[in-house]
Amino acid sequence: MRPEYLKVPLPSGENYVRIRETLKVRTLHTVCEEARCPNIAECWGAGTATFMVMGGNCSRGCRFCSVTHGGMQPLDPLEPKKVAESVRIMGLDYIVITSVDRDDLEDQGAGHFAAVVKAVKDMNVRVEVLIPDFRGNHELVERVVSSGPDVVAHNIETVRRLTPGVRDGRAGYDQSLSVLREIKERHRAMITKSSLMLGLGETDSEVIEALHDLKDASVDIVTIGQYLRPSRKQLEVVEYCPVERFKRLEAIAYEMGFSFVASGPLVRTSYRAAEAWSKRRLENV
Ligand code: SF4
Repeated sequence: MRPEYLKVPLPSGENYVRIRETLKVRTLHTVCEEARCPNIAECWGAGTATFMVMGGNCSRGCRFCSVTHGGMQPLDPLEPKKVAESVRIMGLDYIVITSVDRDDLEDQGAGHFAAVVKAVKDMNVRVEVLIPDFRGNHELVERVVSSGPDVVAHNIETVRRLTPGVRDGRAGYDQSLSVLREIKERHRAMITKSSLMLGLGETDSEVIEALHDLKDASVDIVTIGQYLRPSRKQLEVVEYCPVERFKRLEAIAYEMGFSFVASGPLVRTSYRAAEAWSKRRLENV
């Protein structure tokens, strides 16, 4: 049974309703809804959202994820414009853009993703992108990174040992690390970020090894949250981790030298994204 600290209020409020309506009218997707994020009330209530582009169906089938697998649809050429318009209407100044994986497309959607970022950047908005691995194709990754985001995130999701049973077979622990490493090698000033879920059966020493691997790949920001099973179709939760475990790992990550760490049961990749960006920027000035 889920512990009390994981129970969150149902989303409501003026900002929440306005954002939901804006997205619905433009047939846009957010990861907040698709992934049933527990922070939706807090984030939408505060007027921030994470856009999920390239459709609502994913070509992959990670075993923790509730996004619909398969049934791929053509890309919407108007999506860059629709996202930019929605950002303007919502009055946002920091947004996160993520996507489903599009292994079905020749460029795996890299060109479309970059077009969305450019459309939003034209409006003087800070943009964080949470990108797929593009099957480790650095030129496709580069297409998105060179479109001008302020932060580039790519998630390793879990520790090395559990990766094959948790993520889709086309993903890989080392492949993800190599994506993160290459971004930093090509763009020394780019802020990079990655996230891990706890509660899938990993040990503390495996999590610490993963943090070391991320540090070796020069990642700046790390977030650690509790895996919550979206429905009975996904992997079972092995453990609801106590808050103290998150706090202990947060302290260890800071000791390793990460610029910003968010670690707690309800933390998700985009949690306090603008705050993490400002902190890293301040360190650079
Ligand atoms: S790549 Fe995996 S985690 Fe990402 S949307 Fe597709 S199935 Fe979900």
